[in-house]
Amino acid sequence: MTKILIVEDEETIRLGLKYYLEAENFEIVEAGTGNEALTKIEKNIDLVLLDINLPDKDGYTVFEEIKKIKDIPVIFLTANDMEISIVRGLDMGADDYITKPFKARELISRIKNVLRRNAKGNDSIINIHNIKIDMKQAKVFKNGVDVMLTALEYKILLILALNQNVVFSREKILADIWDVNEAYVNDNTLTVYVKRIREKIEDNPNDPKIIETVRGIGYKIGDVC
Ligand code: CA
Repeated sequence: MTKILIVEDEETIRLGLKYYLEAENFEIVEAGTGNEALTKIEKNIDLVLLDINLPDKDGYTVFEEIKKIKDIPVIFLTANDMEISIVRGLDMGADDYITKPFKARELISRIKNVLRRNAKGNDSIINIHNIKIDMKQAKVFKNGVDVMLTALEYKILLILALNQNVVFSREKILADIWDVNEAYVNDNTLTVYVKRIREKIEDNPNDPKIIETVRGIGYKIGDVC
């Protein structure tokens, strides 16, 4: 069972987190201060949710001390208006951040994404249903067979695959692929690219199960069974 250490001094937030995460079958260890967190880090913790504003020491200091003990993934919990702290946390090497108040689904997705990225041994492989993405080789396999994607198709698939259960707006995808693409990609061509990816990876491209369309917003890769 994956063990998560929640470091948060506000009890209501801590208990809320515990409630959501236990419902997702995570095992929870709690700490209300930075020092308490450090004493609990040795207990086979797989991931830390770390509040930045703690009563005894700030989250950045706790982050550095945790990393000295053990290199485990850390997600910062930040207040909504703390953009600077988010940037600072990510610059220090935090795996992600979650702004309070958080949505349960987004929180769970982010935790799962970080755990997936940090999974030992196969951190360069993403498995979705019968699709395997090998990030080291930049290759995609369907039922073990090499699927030929263009660089742009691969990039779009990867953006969604690395952020499962997160809805990507069409604008966000276009912004993210901008730097790898010399040709102009507009909204209509994005639709065409997604259609081509589906033709290559879906069992039935007319009833896509891997890349879902979120009406009026964009696309996501959800839990495929
Ligand atoms: Ca706090």
